[in-house]
Amino acid sequence: MKFSEFNFHENILESIAASGYEDATPVQEQVMPIIMAGKDVIASAQTGTGKTAAFLLPLLNNLLTGESNDHHISALIIVPTRELAIQISTHLDGLTYFTSLSSIAVYGGGDGQNFVQEKQALSKGADIVVSTPGKLIAHINMGYVKLKQLQYLVLDEADRMLDMGFHDDIMRIISNLPEKRQTLLFSATMPPKIRTLAQKILKNPEEINIAISKPPEKINQQAFIIYEPQKIPLVKHLLKDSPFKSILIFCSKKQNVKQLTRDLKRAGFNAEEIHSDLEQLQREEVLRSFANKRLPILVATDILSRGIDIDHIELVINFDVPHDGEDYVHRIGRTARAETDGTAYTFVTEKEQRRLAMIERLIGREVPKASVPPELGPVPSYNPGGSGGHGGKKKKFFHKKRKAGQ
Ligand code: AMP
Repeated sequence: MKFSEFNFHENILESIAASGYEDATPVQEQVMPIIMAGKDVIASAQTGTGKTAAFLLPLLNNLLTGESNDHHISALIIVPTRELAIQISTHLDGLTYFTSLSSIAVYGGGDGQNFVQEKQALSKGADIVVSTPGKLIAHINMGYVKLKQLQYLVLDEADRMLDMGFHDDIMRIISNLPEKRQTLLFSATMPPKIRTLAQKILKNPEEINIAISKPPEKINQQAFIIYEPQKIPLVKHLLKDSPFKSILIFCSKKQNVKQLTRDLKRAGFNAEEIHSDLEQLQREEVLRSFANKRLPILVATDILSRGIDIDHIELVINFDVPHDGEDYVHRIGRTARAETDGTAYTFVTEKEQRRLAMIERLIGREVPKASVPPELGPVPSYNPGGSGGHGGKKKKFFHKKRKAGQ
């Protein structure tokens, strides 16, 4: 689902575009409308699913379109570690870039100067505060933290916070918050103690579960970092003298499926295509000849990524990086079925590097980068953090106030 379908404020849409995001991830698709509708949420979602933006985007949107709340804290995000606080704060800097919303990260381990800076921001009020429990309590105990008009509370990685012994700290912080607020709880796992906490602090929450599958270990995964025009030559190179007898190539777009199949046929490969423009009978015929090994190369859109049960596929090529990790897992899961090993190549252009990095986080491992044959020419470097950002411009951290009408 495209972000443009979510009815976001134009400044949020601008930040989304600048972040390089195109489609919402499954957790975003499910969670964002519920938050925007003002309901409490309990969601099981792991790092790598896009869960941070799933709560940040609707929260920022609500803050931008809601009543102005100057000199108070409107949203509080409690996280277990300083690293996560910094990470979310950086993410926030990116997403609030085109807005005048202010945020501050408050976490342990800083020096005295940090504390003074935090104290200043917390007493003046900031739209969003990201904090670890212990450090926030230290400030709350001093009496200047403006929490009385808080509208949103987010607990991120709640299971980890409980494992780290923060239950009482969390309850203490919550005792300082207004009863009437929207609360969002995110947790990678849902043990009974999380359920108990949820019962205490959430009101009629909607529950979201994002199940994550991992690809089988035995799949040999490789990524080729290339430029877009090198994709078709690289497919031809990889298929030439290839030992693989059954090859499935996925493209996200129908046009790419058609173009690639045409080029492969012209180059003498025995390849066919499958996509939604074909009649059902044609699709079945193509699929049958691929299943009974008459056809060695099949080029397909994602209609084939889930559910087809052909168990002799030896190589899957992702002509482009799938939009979410689940699709990646489903696509490469077409190979290495049952007892067989499989190989999965993924082509990654500069624009797609971030998406690959996200998939790597989701599946919990790095996809090795393969070398591209020199005859295809120079290739881009792999730098997933570098694309789609804000050109390194630094936003003022806090003390910024919302302009009327935003
Ligand atoms: P998280 O699960 O929140 O830790 O996010 C993992 C990574 O995915 C982060 O680097 C995000 O910037 C990135 N990300 C979040 N949402 C999207 C999206 N819709 N499209 C592409 N990347 C995303």
